[in-house]
Amino acid sequence: MERIYLDHASAMPIDSRVFEYAKPYLLDVGNPSSLYEFGQESKEVIEKARTKIVDLINAENEKTIIFTGSATESNNIAIRGLAFRNIKEGKEVLSSAIEHISVINPMKDLQKNGWIFNTIPVDNYGIIDLSKLKKILSKNTILTSVMYANNEIGTIEPIKEISEIVHEKGKYLHVDATAAAGRVPIDVQKDGIDLLTLSSNDLYGPRGAGVLYVKPGLKIQSVMPGGGQERGLRSGTENIFAITGMGEAAKIAKKEMNIESKRLQKIRDKLISEITKIDETYLTGHPKKRLPHHASFRFNHIEGESILLNMDMYGIQIATGSACSSKTLEPSHVLLAIGLKHEEAHGSMVITLGRSNNMKQVQKIVKAVGETVSRLRKLSPLIK
Ligand code: PMP
Repeated sequence: MERIYLDHASAMPIDSRVFEYAKPYLLDVGNPSSLYEFGQESKEVIEKARTKIVDLINAENEKTIIFTGSATESNNIAIRGLAFRNIKEGKEVLSSAIEHISVINPMKDLQKNGWIFNTIPVDNYGIIDLSKLKKILSKNTILTSVMYANNEIGTIEPIKEISEIVHEKGKYLHVDATAAAGRVPIDVQKDGIDLLTLSSNDLYGPRGAGVLYVKPGLKIQSVMPGGGQERGLRSGTENIFAITGMGEAAKIAKKEMNIESKRLQKIRDKLISEITKIDETYLTGHPKKRLPHHASFRFNHIEGESILLNMDMYGIQIATGSACSSKTLEPSHVLLAIGLKHEEAHGSMVITLGRSNNMKQVQKIVKAVGETVSRLRKLSPLIK
């Protein structure tokens, strides 16, 4: 059975070009902190990767790029590192109500330790409420964290406007761009971003690398003291294979983004128009301001987990929400934040397209969704 993988927000394969490029560094690498030539060669490999990340997000220079182990780690360093370092400037932190748990949980952790943590509501499409943001911000709001685009509903936030408001009334803006990077152009300077998170695997790079962009002059401290690698912000011997792979993945993403996003958007639009023809089926997230590879839905009267398992029998992998939260039976905080009732939020399906998908697969996907929904509705105790 042909496998149709539609869950690129959870995990992506390494692009074979990236693997070929980075492969030698799995076998033979010196420690970049060692002064002999073999070590210094590894250092050069990291610096080359840094330049490619600078290009992807139009950062000011290479010093702004800190390699970490993952997006989760970047989010933690951004939030905790900034809050601890600037404690005298204020003890209030803010995030949108639909952030990934790797942003929400470090914020909650600060709250347990005496910071005030508030969330900014979003509208029914998941767009942040700018008037509420203005109201909640104060001169003590040291950090506001808003994702570039949401991984569960695909909605893209108005980051430039958010940045203007944050810098007028509060202090610094952190943006988790894990879901958006490589799909839409990101320009940290034009968008007015102070801290930005990226993940290697979400760019078709190897797992085990992430990036935190830190705007020049911004002061943050280490949350994991050690050998002082990566400007003292991410101690620990560098994962050269993952870092060099991430750099190459960023280079390919930048070069191909325009064409690839247009290609995926056509497939996405066809899926949305066909799947929403099913009775009592609705798109979640914004119809226009959404990631080009992202289609998310909710179906009345059925459960997301059953949809996922039924679709798997057709060889098609979809998600019901964020894979990171899939161990809990609670409905997604993102779907509740956009105003869905608990029972509505349970019937969700998320499709995230990638390089292996094509228009020919659409018919099979739509047929599988249609049959799955009608089979599950026949069995549903929720239909009287
Ligand atoms: N932020 C967002 C928006 C995500 O979708 C994810 C998961 N891909 C993360 C952060 C965390 O990424 P990781 O689990 O690779 O650290």
